[in-house]
Amino acid sequence: DWADLGDIVGGAVERAARLTRSHTVKVEIDPEIPLLCVDAVLLGQVFFNLLDNACKYSGPGTAIKVWAKKAHDHISVEVADQGPGIPEADREKVFDMFYRVSQTDSQAAGTGLGLAICRGIVEAHGGSIRAESGLHGAGTAIVIRLPLPAVAQVAPEPEGA
Ligand code: ATP
Ligand code: MG
Repeated sequence: DWADLGDIVGGAVERAARLTRSHTVKVEIDPEIPLLCVDAVLLGQVFFNLLDNACKYSGPGTAIKVWAKKAHDHISVEVADQGPGIPEADREKVFDMFYRVSQTDSQAAGTGLGLAICRGIVEAHGGSIRAESGLHGAGTAIVIRLPLPAVAQVAPEPEGA
């Protein structure tokens, strides 16, 4: 259905409030982004999973930033944190089911499914998702790219209007 990306992200931030309470969450949504033909519940789950990871794998008091920008044929959404980052060699593997990066220090609990689920949902929308180094080469940034078909530029008139 037609949904507003700001509402989807905002809903996920609200639902994740208990997880993010020791972090500072900043959201920046490009006002140029049109309504999108997406499954808002599933896409909301993607942002919830990414916020969960950002909190679990970065220290309290650090910042988490969600920003979304419109390009001519796609939308980029990024969830960035100031944690230790994901080693280059693991940046593709973390999207595999049950894959978790082994770390010398004890790691937060998890099943290793969160990012695999995110990839499944994003790909079902024709998009892509990858892990990058965060801002200034530190931390993690998960970057989602959603295609912007011309048909998604304008929402249809509501029925009976
Ligand atoms: P689940 O999400 O199923 O509870 P999980 O968080 O371990 O468990 P994923 O969300 O799929 O699973 O993440 C896979 C692995 O990628 C994590 O175990 C962690 O090692 C690494 N990872 C994910 N997000 C981050 C991040 N923001 N910073 C550092 N490492 C991360
Ligand atoms: Mg996770």
